[in-house]
Amino acid sequence: MNEQLFDPAWANAQDAADPLRDFRNQFHIPLHDGAPQAYFCGNSLGLQPKGARAMVEEVLDKWARDAVEGHFLEPAPWMPYHALVREALAGVVGAQPLEVVAMNSLTANLHFMLVSFYRPTRERPAILMEAGAFPSDRQALESQVRFHGFDPATDLIELAPDEADGTFSMAAIERAIAEHGPRLAAVVWPGVQYRTGQAFDLKEIARLGHAAGAVVGFDLAHAVGNLPLQLHDSDADFAVWCHYKYMNSGPGAVAGCFVHQRHAKTNRPRFAGWWGHDQASRFRMEGNFVPTPGADGWQLSNPPILGLAPLRASLDLFAGAGMDKLRARSLELTGYLEQLIRARLSDTLQIVTPREPERRGAQLSLRVLQGRGLMGRAAGRALFEFLATRGVLGDWREPDVIRISPAPLYNTRADILRFASEVAAWRDGA
Ligand SMILES: *Cc1c(COP(=O)(O)O)cnc(C)c1O
Repeated sequence: MNEQLFDPAWANAQDAADPLRDFRNQFHIPLHDGAPQAYFCGNSLGLQPKGARAMVEEVLDKWARDAVEGHFLEPAPWMPYHALVREALAGVVGAQPLEVVAMNSLTANLHFMLVSFYRPTRERPAILMEAGAFPSDRQALESQVRFHGFDPATDLIELAPDEADGTFSMAAIERAIAEHGPRLAAVVWPGVQYRTGQAFDLKEIARLGHAAGAVVGFDLAHAVGNLPLQLHDSDADFAVWCHYKYMNSGPGAVAGCFVHQRHAKTNRPRFAGWWGHDQASRFRMEGNFVPTPGADGWQLSNPPILGLAPLRASLDLFAGAGMDKLRARSLELTGYLEQLIRARLSDTLQIVTPREPERRGAQLSLRVLQGRGLMGRAAGRALFEFLATRGVLGDWREPDVIRISPAPLYNTRADILRFASEVAAWRDGA
């Protein structure tokens, strides 16, 4: 059994038989010494879909040809351009079309959502988040607490991981919500934790948060395009994410935002701008603000069309493959990576990500134990750099983690076997 797993011919045959095999050809795979890289950084910057260039060129051509009239002329007029991505995006995150919008950047959307949904009072001032969060999230939440005149020392509650590898049990989250419940204004939690790769039961977190009287929002930066999401059914109040990681829409791509249908016509406060104004009367150019229903009502500005264009190409691929099939392939690929590590590399690599497939997405976070006479962080850096010289690209997260994220749209078993072989070569001093 183990022998077969390490046989390149077997890995290639598995790849050739995969129903999603043709999607790899839809991407530009970077080269290393003239051969395709084994690229495992889709959790950081997804590869470029070949269709992205045509989408961007369509905008440039229209601008050259039609100038201001490009706002109205078919195909793909700019005025309703953001609506071109709505249906497919709703499909990827399991939302109703009214509940999603592509706009701004992730951190900006987090702030705009908090303006509406984090309404602290003396009795309920606090936000619960995970300790060790992505810095931008922590900075956004801390600054929101301060903005409202509260003290992050007491009112930004950062739950420490309770499991050995820095992951969270559901019981710990439940206990924290129970303990702080009466003081909680909001729970803000990741869909997939960026450093450990742990995935969470969003529906259960939303249920617990709501039962405590708090608003619940999710940061799905590492979950969208990675796990099939049911955002509407999860009952979250809001969610935010970016499109440059598993969504393959390019550096700094326009981000995503979800507002649950029950808030579609809310009169909560919000920071407003004309693109969120009622569409029928937007161009009457009156100063009053009448929000358009749904997530669209949180838009501020006319969107950066050039920034949105690659998302159309990406969403075509997701719609073609389907999140459920992608998840099935992702389970196979990441399961294969885990098998190879456990079979031959457990003296070198410790898997930090939870073992249970339902508690993770594509990514495995790997702590390098030792190798070539080095320990811990020094060994990790040395292995990471060795892999890069061999055309195997993971990414490094301080203080000691290499993240390897097989993306089911373009990674293969052959890529994964190459990773494992190169780690063994490094360990064995080849
Ligand atoms: C990638 C990522 C970000 C990045 O934020 P931007 O606003 O897109 O620069 C923020 N938070 C999390 C959890 C991330 O994974």
